[in-house]
Amino acid sequence: MTRRTVLQVAATGALLTGCADGRPPTAGASPGPAASKAPPAHPPVSTRPVPPALPPLPPGLPAQIEHGPRDRPQVALTFHGRGEPAIATALLTEAERAGARLTVLAVGGWLDEYPHIARRVLDGGHELGNHTQTHGDICAMGAAAATAEITGCADRLRKLTGSPGRWFRPSQARLATPLVERLARQAGYEHVLAYDVDSLDFTQPGTGAVRAKVAKDVGPGSVVSLHFGYAGTIAALPGILDDLKRRGLRAVTTTELLT
Ligand SMILES: [Zn+2]
Repeated sequence: MTRRTVLQVAATGALLTGCADGRPPTAGASPGPAASKAPPAHPPVSTRPVPPALPPLPPGLPAQIEHGPRDRPQVALTFHGRGEPAIATALLTEAERAGARLTVLAVGGWLDEYPHIARRVLDGGHELGNHTQTHGDICAMGAAAATAEITGCADRLRKLTGSPGRWFRPSQARLATPLVERLARQAGYEHVLAYDVDSLDFTQPGTGAVRAKVAKDVGPGSVVSLHFGYAGTIAALPGILDDLKRRGLRAVTTTELLT
């Protein structure tokens, strides 16, 4: 019953936010008398939003980042980006209500399905990164297949936002193998983004368990792994954000955590 309520909330959120950005190009629009005054079906490239310039990272960061500095009261909440867009929207909206910024590692196939989500993430002040094209077991793949996973998602991000994002997170693995780490660097990702706190929300253990797991393991500098795609995470996020606030920990983007 609780889950149904949560899903209803998520669905309502989706209705409120609409889906105009996801519509296909109106290439077949019929020319009418006012056609000469109508806006072009395909906006010129110059009207695309310019991605914000990211501040440089400090030197000396490890190739694979598991956490940030332990002496500052900040954490990064990082999300596997896939699943129902209504759930993603509900989580983004809840974070914004609490003044939190998230990092969303998007699966490329998910962006193909729901392209409007990319801008929705950035417009909320969150950070967007690469979580492979199909979310296969990338650490078990050969070099060509793994490269295609990384560059496939990077191409989608670049097309939708003007930037491939700063972070790459391997699929089905916390850490990248040396091969995947090298291929990611070749694709332009200087650092692999791992994490040091696993919420285990994807195992759907219940709202209280997700909140308690994060509360037990989180501390200054933590990078927390969470997932879009599970309604239970919507129910858990307000409590997680309350716990962080009570401990004086701010949820910031991964770039903010590290710079
Ligand atoms: Zn994932």
